[in-house]
Amino acid sequence: MTHVPVLELQQLSHVYVNEKGASLAVEKIELSVSRGEFISLVGPSGCGKTTVLSLLAGLFLPTKGQVLLNGKRVTHPTSKVGYMLQQDYLFPWRTIRDNAAIGLEISGRKTEKALEDVDRLLTELGLPGSGHRYPYELSGGMRQRVALARTLATEPEVLLLDEPFSALDLHIKLQLEDLVFQTLKRLGKTAVLVTHDLAEAAAMSDRVIVLGRNPGHIRCELEMPEDIRLATPMVARKLPGFQDIFERLWAELDAVDDEGGGTGG
Ligand code: ADP
Ligand code: MG
Repeated sequence: MTHVPVLELQQLSHVYVNEKGASLAVEKIELSVSRGEFISLVGPSGCGKTTVLSLLAGLFLPTKGQVLLNGKRVTHPTSKVGYMLQQDYLFPWRTIRDNAAIGLEISGRKTEKALEDVDRLLTELGLPGSGHRYPYELSGGMRQRVALARTLATEPEVLLLDEPFSALDLHIKLQLEDLVFQTLKRLGKTAVLVTHDLAEAAAMSDRVIVLGRNPGHIRCELEMPEDIRLATPMVARKLPGFQDIFERLWAELDAVDDEGGGTGG
């Protein structure tokens, strides 16, 4: 991995303003993500994970600070950044192929060649010959594969993944972790995953960022040991050092809880 920063979060702070007043959601987030790196954001509910992803996606501007993508300030959504969510948001009236191609369609890039690439992507993601089927014919895990194909079809450099596996049954989730890991590594994509699942974060990532709350901030970062980084998630979970990493992450989250702000303390 070369250490060219693809994403830079510089002193990122965000205040939400609504009829109830103003609230500081995240404060002074400083983070740099290298090309091809896979990082995870973990932390308690409300610590600003989705806010950070939204800022990375350019959905709105930070109140202070900035996000740089390849050295350029992010001010609006672009096709260089793909977003995958817990819900797949497939359109029920569209075929799998037409769902996977929707980003291409919106950006005016739906050529025959691009559609062939979509078919290849669906095959690579374990859905060969499914292009003509409809979402209701597919299981939850298959639907998330379509959502992944849709995200990858526009060839983003960076993938933002907000709890994409959390609605799935455990063994499907583990399979999909492996598939996403291997696909993103093969394509050399940079990824930012948000997850509640510490084992998932440890198994998939090069680096895990633990956020604290009130306001959301970076509490600490944990670089995964090389053997865990290089192994696929399924294998990584079985490595000798894995339990130790898991326990360290667990302890950091416990410490966030002890800092209070929620139910007391
Ligand atoms: P997480 O994804 O870690 O659960 P969020 O980024 O969703 O956290 O939220 C961070 C903080 O910002 C929370 O206190 C939440 O209540 C607040 N927040 C999130 N979205 C909005 C919004 N649209 N308006 C006002 N406050 C918001
Ligand atoms: Mg969230």
